[in-house]
Amino acid sequence: MAKSCTKCPLSATRTKVVFGVGDPAADLMIVGEGPGREEDLAGEPFVGRSGKLLDELLVEELQLMRHQCYIANVVKCRPPGNRDPKPEEVEACQPYLEEQLKMIDPKVVLTLGRFAAQVLIGTKEGVKKLRGQRYKGTDRLGQTDGRGFWIVPTYHPSAVLRAGGGVMLAEMRADLVRAKEALLDAPPSQGLT
Ligand code: URA
Repeated sequence: MAKSCTKCPLSATRTKVVFGVGDPAADLMIVGEGPGREEDLAGEPFVGRSGKLLDELLVEELQLMRHQCYIANVVKCRPPGNRDPKPEEVEACQPYLEEQLKMIDPKVVLTLGRFAAQVLIGTKEGVKKLRGQRYKGTDRLGQTDGRGFWIVPTYHPSAVLRAGGGVMLAEMRADLVRAKEALLDAPPSQGLT
């Protein structure tokens, strides 16, 4: 049970487990890195500043409200001081992400930032290199029906905020349009690349 999970040391410092929110039948699943301070207090992902930007971009580029998507993170408990999650924390939490992927069975997974892209795509490459195209999520992370899903990596909204918008924001918008296109396409197992 995620709510009482003690599989890694993040359980000792968290306020609330931030499992995920949204429509369990959503076509679009969004995966971030891990809860920040506000998310840790609220028990809900992306409720702080970066969540506000995410909400705006979802409406502007995908015409979707957050409740129409399913939103989760790679790690469900806040890393103290918002440090990067450690590899062993990511590993300990991965079964929950697999459970969510099975439960939601999304058409498209939009990954925000390096950690989510690396876990979903199964690579050590950085997000700057990975973004700008879509990837096939077929037999990875517990999905079993063979239909597959599209993975669309983009920047983490907090990185876009730190950069002050600009080119990074434009690139993130373009990635969200890619996610919209992927939602309209057939799943990857049907031959599209
Ligand atoms: N950053 C994340 O990666 N996830 C959240 O839920 C909030 C901020």
